[in-house]
Amino acid sequence: MLQSRQFARVLDQWPKDEEAINARYLIRAGFLSKTAAGVYTLLPLGQRVLHKINAIIREEMNGVGAEELSMPALIPKRIWEQSGRWEVPVVYKLTGADGEEYGLGWTHEEVIAEIGEKYLVAEKFLPRAVYQIQTKFRKEARAKSGILRGREFLMKDLYSFHATEADMRAYYEVVAEAYKRVFARVGLQALVCEASGGDFTKDYTHEFQVVAESGEDLIYVCEAGCGFCQNKEIAKVGAGEQCPQCSKGKIEEKKAIEVGNIFRLGKRFSEKFFMASYGIGPTRVLGTIVEVSHDEQGIVWPEAVAPFQAHLLVLGKEEKTRERAKDLYEKLIVQGHEVLFDDREEPAGVKFVDADMIGCPYRIVISDRVPEGEVEIKKRGRAKSEVVGEEEMIKRVFG
Ligand code: ATP
Ligand code: MG
Repeated sequence: MLQSRQFARVLDQWPKDEEAINARYLIRAGFLSKTAAGVYTLLPLGQRVLHKINAIIREEMNGVGAEELSMPALIPKRIWEQSGRWEVPVVYKLTGADGEEYGLGWTHEEVIAEIGEKYLVAEKFLPRAVYQIQTKFRKEARAKSGILRGREFLMKDLYSFHATEADMRAYYEVVAEAYKRVFARVGLQALVCEASGGDFTKDYTHEFQVVAESGEDLIYVCEAGCGFCQNKEIAKVGAGEQCPQCSKGKIEEKKAIEVGNIFRLGKRFSEKFFMASYGIGPTRVLGTIVEVSHDEQGIVWPEAVAPFQAHLLVLGKEEKTRERAKDLYEKLIVQGHEVLFDDREEPAGVKFVDADMIGCPYRIVISDRVPEGEVEIKKRGRAKSEVVGEEEMIKRVFG
């Protein structure tokens, strides 16, 4: 991508109406634009990152045998009334041309259970699993956390259907493992945390929590690292007490962001099968990555989800230098590499500042001073740069 052709760009100033780190950095760096409180546009750079997160999620969901589908956002009141969830406070309600009332989809258990009842009519059709990556709407009271808490946001929701409770429980464990791989692959350290089922189920649910100062959840974690983790809302222990699991460590209270949540629903939504549901918020994941991976200069993207693997900068006045950079850019593109090329007529200082703000994993510089056939490379987040030959750079940056 040529930076001179980008629709959006790095802004000179921090947004005035945002407190959350994720929104401040993403807006400043040109990934995100605010349309209303809790309602955001993902600009092209943000969309690239989201695609990568979604691709990882899709791979892992397909890997556990789930098929992708797409359910509506406009859901008739009838469906919500059957489950008793028409009166849930987060539902946006609207009236159609026919006078019919609708709720905007905030989760899809009811919709998929009804479809499941049509197809999964005998034991021989079970087990089955389907998922979607789709826009959800929730009337969130507070929308001060940027894309961590949208009123409109993206969710990957997976639903599984089973003939027996044992089968549901076994598959739940399989999906939990896939969730761990998703979070590890996008560069997040997620703790598996027990929590109450809330509106969904009486059974324990499992939340995937990323420790972060900006987190709205409080969790209790064993300091000895035995894996014990409970949401404070249900916790049977208190901070400072001995860990009930390993009896070695003490329980610490931490702030955390819930990036995923899985539920054993049993027969709550249909008498015909046991169901479980599994959610991840890809837009919340994107925001969480920024919350835990940035410095004063800007975002520091993990390689797996970076908008581009490398940011190529050309500095200097000489025509020869510009030609060299252009040739290198074209060569890298032909090789199939993802490169953002800062070909703008801007001073070096501006280019460096913008590159750090955008946060691609590698910066490659060609300038009048760097000898022909060589480039300067620097890994984002490190202080030192190095001058290496072009082929060596390709190996190191894209190898
Ligand atoms: P929270 O407690 O943070 O409000 P929740 O428990 O209501 O979330 P779930 O119904 O479990 O959320 O939704 C599944 C996943 O969808 C969450 O783990 C989170 O990643 C994401 N998610 C939920 N609400 C939002 C939101 N308002 N904005 C962005 N992502 C969200
Ligand atoms: Mg949840």
